[in-house]
Amino acid sequence: MIRPRLIAALALLLTPVASIRAQRGTLVPILIRNVSVIDGTGAAPRAGMDVVLADGKIAQVVPSGRATGAVPDSVIDGRGGFVIPGLWDAHVHLGTGAWGDRAALLRNALLGGVTSVYDMAGDTRATSDLQRAVITREIAGPSIYYVALIAGPAFFTDPRVLDASRGYAPGAAPWAQSATAGSDWVRIIATARGTGATAIKLYTDMDSTSVTRATAEAKRQGPKVVAHATTFPGLPSDLVAAGADMLAHSPYLVWQGSPRTADFPARGRGNFAGVPVASPSVERLLQSMKERGTALNATLWVFDRQANDDVGRARLAWSNAVTKRAAELGVRIVAGTDGLLGDQRDPLPSIHRELELLVNGAGLRPLDAIAAATRNAAWSAGVESTVGTIAPGMVADLLLLEKDPTVDIRNTRSLRVVLREGRVARMQ
Ligand SMILES: [Zn+2]
Repeated sequence: MIRPRLIAALALLLTPVASIRAQRGTLVPILIRNVSVIDGTGAAPRAGMDVVLADGKIAQVVPSGRATGAVPDSVIDGRGGFVIPGLWDAHVHLGTGAWGDRAALLRNALLGGVTSVYDMAGDTRATSDLQRAVITREIAGPSIYYVALIAGPAFFTDPRVLDASRGYAPGAAPWAQSATAGSDWVRIIATARGTGATAIKLYTDMDSTSVTRATAEAKRQGPKVVAHATTFPGLPSDLVAAGADMLAHSPYLVWQGSPRTADFPARGRGNFAGVPVASPSVERLLQSMKERGTALNATLWVFDRQANDDVGRARLAWSNAVTKRAAELGVRIVAGTDGLLGDQRDPLPSIHRELELLVNGAGLRPLDAIAAATRNAAWSAGVESTVGTIAPGMVADLLLLEKDPTVDIRNTRSLRVVLREGRVARMQ
């Protein structure tokens, strides 16, 4: 996963502005002066603002020159620039590779503007150790949130889940539990929570009874519920009816229009031609997602990458269209890639491409795509009251962009400054 070319390229971009050089990585009050603020809620940019940071938080957001109290010594001139909340990639898999490789991956993600990641299944022993190392600042990286997976017994022959569960019998690891409708759900959810997971993730070989019981107990004990959008034989509508918080992977919604099947390996080869997005079953599903507050973790990036044949192209077109319709109906869209830094040709994290796909593929307004990767992503991890938007009291995870992302979403790539928890991670 280490890519020396990328690291060298980023190192060249790391020439700091003199006034901030001494404070790199340390926590001092900072004034970002005379900048346009895009706050992550979908609201229009506010030009000519000052943003004051103190103690790792946003202290003031005021018209330029109107800040109260002592002016911080560290000033970033924001004139002509745009400040947005730090981006989330709300669908990653950090894996269990060598420590140095994963630390480099996280560092490059942060330097590329990703200030939070949401790991959607893996070995939580490894993931929580990375989380700890970021919190203690042993390594530089985004804030890390993760899930604990639950699936039916049939999934526990999959090499990925066996790899993530080494040392345990298949289905017995606390972060990768096997369960059926008749399982002791109180114990299963309590065990999952014990891993430090933000959410449980329901995966496959789960019927509507399993899904309903898992979700009900999770709601009682507290963790969020995310799910593969179809849990074979469970349908998307089973998850929505049960009260799941978020469905992952847009194309799996197509299974709503097909007879129930346990054929999980076919998940990416749904009946895209026979079940158009405008069909009543899909429309009803999307409307119920809006009514129940079920978010869609679209992951267009990974399907864009796989659009190399007829099936892949049909899947991407369908994914774009269903995400578009969901957004039109007011379903909360959450941005995640399933690939963090997965494109060797792209010097920046994949979330920038995901934003482009959300706008140019799924037709979201740039402001709504930014909200999908900031406020909505924070919501999906249950931390929207502290991170993901720009307002006094919020964690100072911020990007200063050179160019306006509302006129061209690709301008999220014009990174000048990355701040995480009020510390300068990158300054160009
Ligand atoms: Zn994934």
